[in-house]
Amino acid sequence: MTFSALRLSLLLLASSGGLLPAADPLEFLHVTDTHVIDARGVHPSIAAQRRHLHSAAANLQSFFDTLSAQPPAFVLVTGDLIDGVSFQGAEGDTRAGQIELFAKMIARGPVPVYLALGNHDVQRYTVDAAASKPAGSDASAAADRAAWRAAAPCFRDGTYYAFQRRAGSTTYRFLVLDNGSLKDRSFAEAQWRWLEKQVRQAGDDPLIVALHIPLDQSPASAPIREILARAPNVALVLAGHKHSNAIEEISLGDHGVTQVRTAIFATNPASVRAIRLFEDRIEIGATGRRGSTEHTVALHAVPALAH
Ligand SMILES: [Zn+2]
Repeated sequence: MTFSALRLSLLLLASSGGLLPAADPLEFLHVTDTHVIDARGVHPSIAAQRRHLHSAAANLQSFFDTLSAQPPAFVLVTGDLIDGVSFQGAEGDTRAGQIELFAKMIARGPVPVYLALGNHDVQRYTVDAAASKPAGSDASAAADRAAWRAAAPCFRDGTYYAFQRRAGSTTYRFLVLDNGSLKDRSFAEAQWRWLEKQVRQAGDDPLIVALHIPLDQSPASAPIREILARAPNVALVLAGHKHSNAIEEISLGDHGVTQVRTAIFATNPASVRAIRLFEDRIEIGATGRRGSTEHTVALHAVPALAH
């Protein structure tokens, strides 16, 4: 027996008998609803309505500054990245550039940042003095999605996309959806066809779905839930939008999935959730307490451990 053959058989023995120490988990950070706004030159009534968000950019900057001390594998931000694509200006002009400002901030971060778009990321705002909020319109969502694709590398192939990460012998497939605005039927339907294909191609690999608006009983969730009902390997859903923390079980036909929501980051920079991927399980940390475990998801079948 050659040395390499001996080494291979020892490795096989070790992996079947658990003699090797468990591989280090892969840790990433989930944040959401960063609502970054550059309010300079924005109409005073909008600036006043959005005053609670004026520290959002500084909060995000400090978060990136602290990452180098203990860098995670990556950061995943599930939407409402910015507070709006543009705002009516003080002089009746339009204050744009919010997408580009956000993209510049994440490009300076010390680790890769994966983004999902939320409803605010394709909304343009004008003054509505009679209401408590400015008036939003997503009529230019297609153009705004194109601007995001040009500005942020993760959207290079589109504003819904997939990426993979390994933990031991397990390949996790991340599917990032764009469900902040689904009024454009052909956009939505193309996305669902893409999702179906990703589910088919995944084989036994566990899926982690990231999206802005969480899965619920609403008609908007139905197409996603129907597709995921055909994916017994869906392991986790990560979402934002509601600005509150929750770990909930979502029913998908004959199986279920854990959906994790994380609270708004913009107004509470402690709203960071660490998630650790192991070969056989996912450990979900409590918001603001890196290293803690609030919930564990066991993977149904880990091929490497099954024989
Ligand atoms: Zn939000």
